[in-house]
Amino acid sequence: MMRRLSLFGATGSVGQSTLDLVRRDRESLRVSVLTANSDVAELARLALEFRPDLVVIADEKRYDDLKQALAGTNIGVAAGADALIEAAQYPTDLVMAAIVGIAGLAPTMAALEAGVDVALANKEALVSAGELMTAAARKSGATILPVDSEHNAIFQCLAGGRIDQVRRIILTASGGPFRTMSADDMARATPAQAVAHPNWSMGAKISVDSATMMNKGLELIEAHHLFPVGLDRIEILVHPQSVIHSLVEFVDCSTLAQLGSPDMRIPISSALAWPQRMVTPCAPLDLASIARLDFEAPDEVRFPATALCRAAIAEGGARPAQLNAANEVAVAAFLAGRISFPAIVETVRRVIDADAPATPASLQDIFSVDVASRAAAQYLVDHFEHA
Ligand code: NAD
Ligand code: MG
Repeated sequence: MMRRLSLFGATGSVGQSTLDLVRRDRESLRVSVLTANSDVAELARLALEFRPDLVVIADEKRYDDLKQALAGTNIGVAAGADALIEAAQYPTDLVMAAIVGIAGLAPTMAALEAGVDVALANKEALVSAGELMTAAARKSGATILPVDSEHNAIFQCLAGGRIDQVRRIILTASGGPFRTMSADDMARATPAQAVAHPNWSMGAKISVDSATMMNKGLELIEAHHLFPVGLDRIEILVHPQSVIHSLVEFVDCSTLAQLGSPDMRIPISSALAWPQRMVTPCAPLDLASIARLDFEAPDEVRFPATALCRAAIAEGGARPAQLNAANEVAVAAFLAGRISFPAIVETVRRVIDADAPATPASLQDIFSVDVASRAAAQYLVDHFEHA
């Protein structure tokens, strides 16, 4: 059966991996919508290859360029934030939410409210607005299919038992590129070192989040919303080989795990084909050559981000949205060479140390918290000693 797919964030790492799978299975997958932030050349190239009904560029200034690049085709062209939201309501079977950051929240919410199933990679949206997103999905009947490898693993393991029979969820973490680095060396870490992930090839923002372990903290919040077993039942375990993508322990102390090569096309394919499975070009696991799997407890002294995230979601309300906004600003400042590596998590810590804003009741409230927290983080960034 043909499945229509709307792909938000087509030019990114998850977007390109998604299209690689579509390219190999044109019989069952058809792209209806493609979007990107500002890379007109790449978006136009993808549009000419996949022939969607509609393409949207978020940056309105690039509309004319995109229109021109697709002149003579029957592909619809639109630009801007409202066009992204409208595109999320375009008739489709699945929305792939692969925009990075809070920018993905409004279109993802629009899809969920319209009752469209969402394959969710955009963890920042769920971190900031988890209650609103899960409530919207419940109300409309839309399913959220997790694409993040850990959450996709848990989702798969939960097919082996009921959620009320879960004793523990164990989120695995590679530990990132600085797993064994001293705090002194981390203080001098460069953006190039931080984005060089040992196992996964990903966009710059999530790569830095992996280096600070903020990624695992965001994933803890993500897991809390997707799999409501109680925060104290979700643990983090460092597993440097990234072969086991997460585990679920049931009340009988039977533990299920999902394993696979560290290739995002595996969890993406699982979401695209769910509840079926599709063939992928990914490398099968060769456990004899991997030979061993290692595990260690996370070091929350060198990597304080996971504890910050646990406290933020335990407090709830506006805290997770505040934390996410501060982190987005701090990561961008680090990538721009403006603050040191340890200053990323320090910025987040200081922003969420402030009095809590009122609990957000609407998407607009989330955006207000986001804007205010960005300003607070930007102030700190502008006043940090330049290392
Ligand atoms: P990326 O930076 O490679 O791509 C981001 C995409 O979002 C691009 O298509 C870009 O054009 C679009 N975009 C960026 N800013 C935008 C804006 N303001 N408005 C509209 N579109 C915008 O990022 P990525 O690594 O593909 O990650 C995407 C999401 O998936 C993130 O939330 C990330 O945490 C999550 N994720 C990624 C991976 C991975 O392997 N890359 C794994 C798990 C989860
Ligand atoms: Mg992940």
